[in-house]
Amino acid sequence: MNTPALSVGKDTVCYCTRCKMDLGHMIMSMVGPVPARVMCRTCKSEHNFKPKRGVKEPGGVAPSRGSPGSTTRTARAPREVKEEKTVPVELEWMRQMNASTAAMKEYGADQAFIAGDRIKHPVFGEGIIQKLVFPNKVEVLFKMDIKTLIHAGKSA
Ligand SMILES: [Zn+2]
Repeated sequence: MNTPALSVGKDTVCYCTRCKMDLGHMIMSMVGPVPARVMCRTCKSEHNFKPKRGVKEPGGVAPSRGSPGSTTRTARAPREVKEEKTVPVELEWMRQMNASTAAMKEYGADQAFIAGDRIKHPVFGEGIIQKLVFPNKVEVLFKMDIKTLIHAGKSA
């Protein structure tokens, strides 16, 4: 453990008894390797050195009489609730169908499509090709869902 050398006049982060949080303090006096009196940089109050709340006693100093079994809580990872706003497929489908000027083609596994093609499927209805999936599939946006269909590939 490598603690930076502390000395009078230097700054250290420790617990401020007035601000009630870990803050930068100037060391006013030392007892051995440990600060004894410190002055809070924030509230300017001078008080006895208190170790940072977040950290155990400074290492290497006196056998810590703290509770050896005490578990330091591992910082909990900020878990952001990801509110994914998915565009309803139907809306996206409508948007794309309206925007498209491509002629409607009957879907057939023997046909070759390109992205942007509009197709009519006997089961899924009208859809619009999103992308080609190698080697012979297409991703199609239908009103209800996105489907992957087989087509004739890019040979055309
Ligand atoms: Zn303070």
